[in-house]
Amino acid sequence: MKKLTLAPYHLFQYHDPLTTDTHFYVFDIESSAVMRLDAPAYDVLALRLEGVTTETLEAHLASTYGVDTARAVHEELRWLEKRGIFQGPIMTYDADENEAYIQKLVRMSTNKIELYLAEACNLRCRYCYVNAHDALNHGLMPWEIAKQAIDLVFARAGNADSINITFFGGEPLLNKPVLKQVIAYSQELGQARGKRVGYSMTTNATLLDDEMIALIKYYNFGLMISMDGPQDVHDRMRPQANGQGSFELAARNVKRLMQSRRSVTVRCTLSNRCLDRPRIVQFLEDFGFSRVAMSRCTGTVDGLSPYDIGPEENVTLQAQDGYFIERLFEQLERGERIKYNPWANVVRHIHDMQSRRMRCGVGRGCTTVGIDGRLYPCHRYVGMDNYVLGHVSTGIDRAVFTDYLRGYFSTKRKCETCWAINLCGGYCPWYVSGADGSFPYPEDWWCDHIRHWYEMGIWMYDTLRNTYPDYFKQLVGDEDAEPILR
Ligand code: SF4
Ligand code: SF4
Repeated sequence: MKKLTLAPYHLFQYHDPLTTDTHFYVFDIESSAVMRLDAPAYDVLALRLEGVTTETLEAHLASTYGVDTARAVHEELRWLEKRGIFQGPIMTYDADENEAYIQKLVRMSTNKIELYLAEACNLRCRYCYVNAHDALNHGLMPWEIAKQAIDLVFARAGNADSINITFFGGEPLLNKPVLKQVIAYSQELGQARGKRVGYSMTTNATLLDDEMIALIKYYNFGLMISMDGPQDVHDRMRPQANGQGSFELAARNVKRLMQSRRSVTVRCTLSNRCLDRPRIVQFLEDFGFSRVAMSRCTGTVDGLSPYDIGPEENVTLQAQDGYFIERLFEQLERGERIKYNPWANVVRHIHDMQSRRMRCGVGRGCTTVGIDGRLYPCHRYVGMDNYVLGHVSTGIDRAVFTDYLRGYFSTKRKCETCWAINLCGGYCPWYVSGADGSFPYPEDWWCDHIRHWYEMGIWMYDTLRNTYPDYFKQLVGDEDAEPILR
């Protein structure tokens, strides 16, 4: 391991949008423990960061807060220090350990695969990242490739007792015949080898018919519907190939789907053309979706497209967070089911106290098969010639995958000066993958946004845990969820 020159903890103040009080927090970087502080303890930790001597500190505490408070703060901090909190040093992996980890990732088994059934789409979403690689004009995946992909995931799954196949695109339902063949063949293989086979799909819903709805129901697909909000917003961003809006088609089919399936999740993509998140979320909830997920058009290190959210739009979106915080707590107060909680993942993550070395399963669980059988790290890479990791007929090329991971890990050097290093674990690999095969660092404004998000997440974690413990436990999936530190 190597020692970083980072301070052992990150201190920050958070202005509670619900009460307008100011809360003081400390995040212990090495252990990922979080703690709400009172003003004297915050003062002590802040002065320590400035290198103030113990004598000066004690004098300051006693004169500002009184001798009794000074003693209590000291005892509490000493108790925490004995448990290794606030001590540092912050350690991270050295080059050899990273290389060993990369070799481990390259050899890891996986029971998941994503089939890009169609490098084609009946829509022409204006912000579509796939268009940038011209991957919507390539056609459909032939059965021979799909079959090899299934054989590959069974071969890579080792002793796993289940297999998960994701249908992706483009629009996967353009290739329904192959989708049905995949189900039939994978069920047959699953039965023969004693493995359960499950399916997931992301679809624009415009081609959902009764037969497909029945299959989704029968196999209990993990399902993500792509819709962007009210008709004017949706149609503007998601026209059909013939130029007409796609809202009516999608909405009609989703309503039919909702008759046979209680819980339907929508993922809406936010572009810079409509930043009215409150209107979009309200519409999607009223439409009947049981969960609303939202992603942003982010662009990549190569730059922003005309529809991406840049630093200016990010400021607008951050200003809406207060509205969504109030809305969330009002819904909890009324005992309503929570359908949109953008902090759910960050709260779980803070609770887990796990330091992340990889943020996703690129090249493993996220491995994506293009229509020609080429293997990509994840669906976002389809059509990017510099990121082909192998072929379904021969599997992942370990040397190529190793080089890819080395490139990605080189971007994580930026993280060695960042207090969020253990929480964030580095940027989305796709985002930092330049089209030319290089791996530049993520941009500063994005990292600032991530750190801001984690600070808000720590406040949300603390507030939910204290005010709505039942919902908090449901969120973190922990029956005995206890505060990390008091
Ligand atoms: S915020 Fe940026 S610098 Fe910090 S850990 Fe994440 S990717 Fe690295
Ligand atoms: S590379 Fe980025 S987009 Fe792809 S799976 Fe990982 S986090 Fe998601």
